[in-house]
Amino acid sequence: MIDPLEPVDVRMRGFARRTTVEDALRWLDGKTERLDEQIVPLAEAAGRVLAREMVSRVDVPPFDRSMMDGFAVCAADTLGASPYNRLVLQVVGESLPGRPFYGRVCSGQAVRITTGSLLPVGADAVLPVELVEIAVGDASHSRMFTQGEVSPGRHVGRIGEDVEAGTTVLPADRVLRPQDVGLLASIGVTDVPLVRRPLVRVVVTGNELLPAGSPPRPYRIADSNGPMLSALVKRDCGVIVEVDIVPDEPGTMLEAMRSEADLVLVSGGSSVGQEDHAPAVLVEHGELPIHGIAMRPSSPTGIGRLDGRLVFLLPGNPVSCLCAYDFFAGRAIRALGGRSKDWPYRRTTLPLARKIVSAVGRLDYMRVRLVEGLVEPLAIAGASILSSTTRADGFVLVPANSEGYPPGAEVEVYLYDIIS
Ligand code: AMP
Ligand code: MG
Repeated sequence: MIDPLEPVDVRMRGFARRTTVEDALRWLDGKTERLDEQIVPLAEAAGRVLAREMVSRVDVPPFDRSMMDGFAVCAADTLGASPYNRLVLQVVGESLPGRPFYGRVCSGQAVRITTGSLLPVGADAVLPVELVEIAVGDASHSRMFTQGEVSPGRHVGRIGEDVEAGTTVLPADRVLRPQDVGLLASIGVTDVPLVRRPLVRVVVTGNELLPAGSPPRPYRIADSNGPMLSALVKRDCGVIVEVDIVPDEPGTMLEAMRSEADLVLVSGGSSVGQEDHAPAVLVEHGELPIHGIAMRPSSPTGIGRLDGRLVFLLPGNPVSCLCAYDFFAGRAIRALGGRSKDWPYRRTTLPLARKIVSAVGRLDYMRVRLVEGLVEPLAIAGASILSSTTRADGFVLVPANSEGYPPGAEVEVYLYDIIS
C-alpha cells in the first residue's frame, strides 16, 4: 500500500497522488500545540490569549459599601416610617469615598454617606436621599427625618459581591476583552501570563519578482504575496519577523528558511517545475510529508518541517497562495497562538444564482459575489487572477465527494470581510 504521506521528488513528473485536505489537516493539527506562556504588562494584554486561568486572591469590593447617596442607618429604626409618619434620626457624621466614618452607628443615629463609601460599623442599610428630609432651621444639620422604610441590606454592596477571593475570574485560553483587563486590574493583577504569539518568517521566491509596490516591467511582476501574507499573519495574530524576496536558488532558499521563527511561509516554487526548488530543499534538509493536495486552487501546496519548525510551501499564484494560507498556515498560526482553529470568516447560507460544477476527488474553493440575495459564482476562476478575490464577497467550498450544486441550491458562503 502507498503511504499518502511518504515523500517523493516530483519535479517535472507531476503529482502521482495527492493528500486529501482532511489528511493534511489531521497531520497539521497533531503538530500545532499551543506555544508556551510569556508574562506581559496588563496594559498590553487586551486581545491576547490568557495562558492560565486567573484566580482572585482578594475580595472585590474589599468592604461593604453604599450603593446610593443617602444615610447609613440601622434598618430597624426606619420601620413604619412614611410621609405621614416621619421618624427622626440623629446625624452623627459622614462617610465619603476614601474618607470613611470610623465611629459606630447606634440605634437612632445616621451617617451621611455617598455611593461607593464604606458602610460604617453598626449600620446595615442605606436610606436613599430621596426618602429623607433634613430638619429645616437646624443649623448643625444634625437631625433628619425619614419618610420611608428600608430593610436590612438595602442599597448595600457586600464585600466580595463582585469577585470573591479564591474564585476563578477568567479561564485559560480566553481572548482578553477590554472588560477582562478591567477586572484583572480590579483584583490587583499588573502582569498577565499570555500565550506567546507565533513568530512567522515569510520567504517570497521568484526570479521574476520585483519588490512590492514596484511598477511591473517586461517579464517582471511586483510581489503581491509578501504584503498579502503579512496582512493575513497579522489578522491571525502572528508576528512577522522578516519578509524578503529570495532568488530561485536552493542554497539561498535553505538559508532563508532556516530562521528563528516558529513557522516559515514560503511563497512560490512549491510545485513540480524545474525552478521549483523549495520541495527538494525540504526533502533533503528536513521533511516534507505532505506535497500535493486534492484541492483547487492550491493543489501544489506542501507542508513539512525544517529544524523542528513547520514550513508551508504556498503556491506562487496569488489566489492559490491565499487559499493555501487560509486552509493550512493560518490555522497553524492560530493554533500555536492558542486561538480557535476555525476561520474568522462569517458565514451565510443563500441560494445559488447559477450552477457550480466541480470534479469529484478534489475540494473546490469558488469565489462568489452576493447579488440581490443570490450567490453568483465568479466566471474567472484562474488561480493567477488575484483581482477575482477582491471582486468577490466570499467563497463557497465544494467538498471532494461532490460534483457541484444546481442553481437554487442553498450554499454556505464564507464572507471575506471580517467584523473587527
Ligand atoms: P510559482 O508558484 O513560483 O511557480 O509561481 C506561479 C505564478 O505565480 C507565476 O506566474 C508567478 O510569477 C506568480 N507569482 C509567484 N510569486 C508571486 C508573488 N509573490 N506575487 C505575485 N505573483 C507571484
Ligand atoms: Mg516561482
